[in-house]
Parts: sequence; C-alpha cells; structure tokens
Amino acid sequence: MQIETEILVIGGGLAGLTAALHLQQSGFHVTLIEKKPYPHHKVCGEYVSNEVLPYLSWLGISFESLKPALITSLQFSSVSGSFLNASLPLGGFGLSRYVMDDFLYQELLKRGVSVLFDTVNQVLYKNDLFYVETNANKQFVASHVLGAFGKRSSLDKTLGRDFMQSKSPYLAVKAHYEGEFPSNLVALHNFSGGYCGISKVEDNKLNICYLANFNRFKHFKNIESYQQEVLYKNKFLKTILEDSRMIFETPLTISQICFESKEPVFDHILMIGDTAALIHPLCGNGMAMAIHSAKIASELLIRFSQSKGLSRKVMEKEYTKQWKGLFQRRLFAGKILSAVFSNPTIQKLALGTLTKMPGLLSRTIKMTHGKPLSISQ
Ligand SMILES: Cc1cc2nc3c(=O)[nH]c(=O)nc-3n(C[C@H](O)[C@H](O)[C@H](O)COP(=O)(O)OP(=O)(O)OC[C@H]3O[C@@H](n4cnc5c(N)ncnc54)[C@H](O)[C@@H]3O)c2cc1C
Repeated sequence: MQIETEILVIGGGLAGLTAALHLQQSGFHVTLIEKKPYPHHKVCGEYVSNEVLPYLSWLGISFESLKPALITSLQFSSVSGSFLNASLPLGGFGLSRYVMDDFLYQELLKRGVSVLFDTVNQVLYKNDLFYVETNANKQFVASHVLGAFGKRSSLDKTLGRDFMQSKSPYLAVKAHYEGEFPSNLVALHNFSGGYCGISKVEDNKLNICYLANFNRFKHFKNIESYQQEVLYKNKFLKTILEDSRMIFETPLTISQICFESKEPVFDHILMIGDTAALIHPLCGNGMAMAIHSAKIASELLIRFSQSKGLSRKVMEKEYTKQWKGLFQRRLFAGKILSAVFSNPTIQKLALGTLTKMPGLLSRTIKMTHGKPLSISQ
C-alpha cells in the first residue's frame, strides 16, 4: 500500500527537522523519515552560530530550557603553541545534538508531523510525483521530497551522485568529557594533519571533536596513541585532554568526510543541509547552514503551492540561485582557511598577521558566517 503525503523529508538531522517544522506550521501534510531513533549522539562540534536564533524563535523554538552554554569568544592556536583570542561578532551557543535533535523531534510529534524510523533506499521521480521506498518495504507517494540525509548516505550512492566516487582523506572523532573549560569559549587548536574544536555544551559537559587526516591516523594502533603522539604536540590540547575525563565509553568516529561540491537540486529533490554541501567544520557554521537551507527550501515550497504561475522548474532554479547566493562564498572561505591552516608554516604566519590585525580576523570570521536570519513570512 502506498502512503500519500504532500511533503516527504528524508533525514531528521537539523535540516530535516527544521524544514518539517516550518512546512507543518504552514499547513502542509509532512512526513519525515529518519533512520535512527532519538536521542542519538552525532559527531559534531556542537557550537551553533546565533544567526539562527530569529528564525528558530519564529518557528516557536527556544532551546533555553535545555541550558546551552553561551559562547562569545574564540581561541585559536597553532601546532607550535602560538595562539590568539578574539570575540565572536555574533556569538553562538553550545548544545549537544543528543538533546537538540531530540527536542526538535518531540516538538514535531506535539505538532502532529508523522515521523517514521526507517531508511529510505529509493527515490524515483515520475509524472510530477515522487515514489519513495524504505528498507521496511514502506512505499510513499509525495508531491515534493526534501533531501536532508546528511553528508554521506547509502542513498547518495543509489541516486548516483558524483561526489560518492571521490575518496576523502578525513575522519572525525568526538566525545563528551568532564573538565575545566570556560563556558563562553570555543577553542580551535591545530595539530599536524587536523584541528580540534573544544567547547561546553549543556550540563557543563565539554565537547572535544577533531578532524584528522586518515592516512596519518591509520598508522597508530588506537585513538589514544594517536592523540598522545599527534594532538599532544599542541600544548593546549595536551593539557585539556590530560586534565579531562571522558564521559562516553568510547569516542564516536566517522570517516569519508567529503568536502566536494554537490548539487543543491538533484533529480528534482531539493537538497538541504549537508546533503547540499558540507562546509569545513573549522568555520563552525554547518548547523546554521543546515537550518538556513531548510528555511529557503520551505519558503519556496510554500510559494510554489500558493502561486499557480510558478513551475517546478522555476522553483528548482530559484532554489539553486538562492542557495548559491547564500552559501557559496562561505564554502569557498572555508576551503581557503582549511588549506591555509593545514600548512604549519603558513599557519604560523597567518596567526601572526591576524594577531596584529584584529579587524582582519573579525572579517575572516564574518566571511564564514551569515547574518541573523530574517523572516519574510
Ligand atoms: C567533525 C565535525 C565537526 C563539526 N562541528 C560543527 C560545529 O561545531 N558547528 C556547526 O555548526 N557545524 C559543525 N559541523 C557540521 C554539522 O555537523 C553539520 O553541518 C550538520 O549536522 C548538518 O545537519 P544535517 O541535518 O544536514 O545532517 P545530519 O545532522 O547528518 O542529519 C542527517 C540525518 O539523515 C539520516 N539519514 C541518512 N540517510 C538516511 C536515509 N537513507 N533514510 C533516512 N534517514 C537517513 C541520518 O541518520 C541523520 O540523522 C561539524 C561537522 C563535522 C564533520
């Protein structure tokens, strides 16, 4: 039996959850399919830029009761131990994905969105409709599909997306810790072949999350010895890791993290969040981009349903245009920064320049972030 829905959202991370909230609030019948039941941990630095706050508030969402850490400052250090401190132009908050995604999911349930825990394995577009199948053999027919299935999914392979062909040398490791760390600070400490983000989340927990080069990592017998041999070379990381106690039984890891270009629209599916593109984590803007792309896709779907003159083709073109206009510069800045900071000599030089020119640092941070999200409807 085929289940009919107006909008089907594939993936319930921040992008999918936000879009489902927005579209349900605008009167659509929305179904969201997520493969893992909530709550669940995710490999993420868990620092969210405040640019999303006006939009979340318009959606009727406030995370205040979850007591996020309020983050106003950035510390940045090189492998050799030179460092700089700066205030963040907009600031942000620290909240684990474990509580944040679950909070949004509970909100979806309260508002009557259908949520199904299953894995989508097929999406076909035919005669202006989408036919979607899941691992549990559920079949859906939808007028619109939003692709919110994250940075890399088996569905990307089924769809035949090009970026799945390229190998990525990055892996990431994350765990929560108990330890002393200023709750208003996000630190970005570099080490050979990667960088590590540190900041508080709710309940005074410390998130330590790093991106590393897999080709280097694989030569070590385990995470512990990699950290001691490589991360400890940065004195800040050595102190923090030695003085903190891991709360997780084992750290979470993911590999094949890919920063290749993708398509914001693929086979008529509007892609949102990491499914459209992943910004280098050192920018701390991936979650804000996920939420922002959910907003623009939702707004366009609303316009499409209200205006008889807007064809699907025009809507898709408009989404691509808006998406590129908002995010392409940030993605490019992220690529440049990541390249600059992957070379220890250039890293040292850049740190020296940025310390002497605080205005340049503030401009660099702004280049990787957006403005507070305005509400158009
Ligand atoms: C190491 C690292 C550190 C980061 N740190 C930060 C940070 O500090 N700040 C920041 O803003 N950003 C950070 N990011 C980026 C941020 O994590 C992402 O941009 C954000 O999670 C994107 O949200 P999303 O909803 O697009 O994807 P996700 O949160 O990944 O959600 C996708 C969902 O889709 C589901 N799914 C996948 N396939 C299917 C399927 N076939 N069927 C059904 N469901 C499916 C998955 O289970 C998942 O829940 C970091 C990224 C990395 C790699």
